[in-house]
Amino acid sequence: MEATNCELLITDVSVLGPGMVLSPGSAIAINDGRIVQIGPSTSLESAYRTDYHICGAGKLALPGMVDAHTHACQQLLRGRITDEPPMIWVRFLVPFESALEPEDVYWSGMACCSEMIHAGITSFADSGGRHMGEVARAAEQTGLRACIARSTMDAAEFVPANMKDTVQSAIAETEALYRDWHGRANGRIQVWFALRQVMTSTPQLVRAVASDARQYATGVHIHLAEHLREVEHCVVNYRLRPAEWLDSLGLLGPNVLAAHCVVLSDREVQLLVERGTVPVHCPRSNLHSHGFPKTPLLLALGSAIGLGSDGASSAAIDLFEGMRLLKSACQAHYGLPINDATVLPIRDAWRIATLGGARALGLQDDIGTLEAGKKADLILLDVTGPHFAPTHNLVNTMVMAGRPHDVTDVIIDGTVVMRDRVLTRVDEAEIRARATEHMQAVAQRANL
Ligand SMILES: [Zn+2]
Repeated sequence: MEATNCELLITDVSVLGPGMVLSPGSAIAINDGRIVQIGPSTSLESAYRTDYHICGAGKLALPGMVDAHTHACQQLLRGRITDEPPMIWVRFLVPFESALEPEDVYWSGMACCSEMIHAGITSFADSGGRHMGEVARAAEQTGLRACIARSTMDAAEFVPANMKDTVQSAIAETEALYRDWHGRANGRIQVWFALRQVMTSTPQLVRAVASDARQYATGVHIHLAEHLREVEHCVVNYRLRPAEWLDSLGLLGPNVLAAHCVVLSDREVQLLVERGTVPVHCPRSNLHSHGFPKTPLLLALGSAIGLGSDGASSAAIDLFEGMRLLKSACQAHYGLPINDATVLPIRDAWRIATLGGARALGLQDDIGTLEAGKKADLILLDVTGPHFAPTHNLVNTMVMAGRPHDVTDVIIDGTVVMRDRVLTRVDEAEIRARATEHMQAVAQRANL
């Protein structure tokens, strides 16, 4: 039989299928940005002809991870806020973010995207800062898939004038970003609406964002139920809890990604599930500043859940660590008191970092699992290191011991964006050098 052409063929690899089953000795044929076929290496090697061949011996092929809550604009704050007392928002984030110029954001975005690719992340949802077109440009150039939003705030006295919108300007700025970027890079870039959080939004802004996002058939990114002050603000002003207040204004729906979701009542959990809104936990931030999210209840009610790094300001972007932190936190808080060792099993932890994130981004039909027909967004993980071998169960060990440095190759939209731990489309030394210059310049301007 005549061999078919494909753009990329990965052979001799162990493929993790949607049912968490490993198929060793497999091959993946990729063409036109999508997975064409997954099957035994011996048969695909004779069925396909290719110019780009990767041997996957000693590696796992996994779906790329989804960082469903990032702050690309805060990449240049790394190392500055650790162990600082409150209020981080007033003392650091406001002066820092309001001092950012477009070129700062571009190099911040380039550094953030590079770090994500090295960590095995192939898609991200950014909750938005300033000059977000520059983050879109960084995603386009590095090769990532991204849902970009412009953070909007039109209320609260703790928001400085140059970060505060009117309802009209908030909508107009996102519409302009949408016109410039939505659907660009072969559809890899989407533009979403965003509300920074409940305390910085008027009811008018929430209503306008809800209706415009529906009109544009796009998503809304919001920080929700992050801390008790937010609950108090809502209950005092509106006699409703935060998720109830947003629902009363018509916001909640399957196109809404709600970051954090820690201080939810059980009724609010039920409400999010009914509306199909996807909570995204950020375990590092949540454990430091917020508390324990109601992950087991959400899972029991059938909710999808995503995982977020919440940016790089306090640590590394590392969703392997995020999965394990969430698993340990759930175990400590919910499992131990009832003697249940499986409140967040391996299968669910992995799903949260992949398919759950895909659901949060509205991309579950295209990414999140390795299957023929889906977009070719996948990573290769070297499992020959001493923390992997020998093992009784490689899938368990991948979730419990994997780390960004094990990621050797990253393919997004069928394009190899990292090969043997080196980014193929951008100059990493230049990114580090320019990001360092801009970090110092912003710190000086913001008087940090
Ligand atoms: Zn955040």
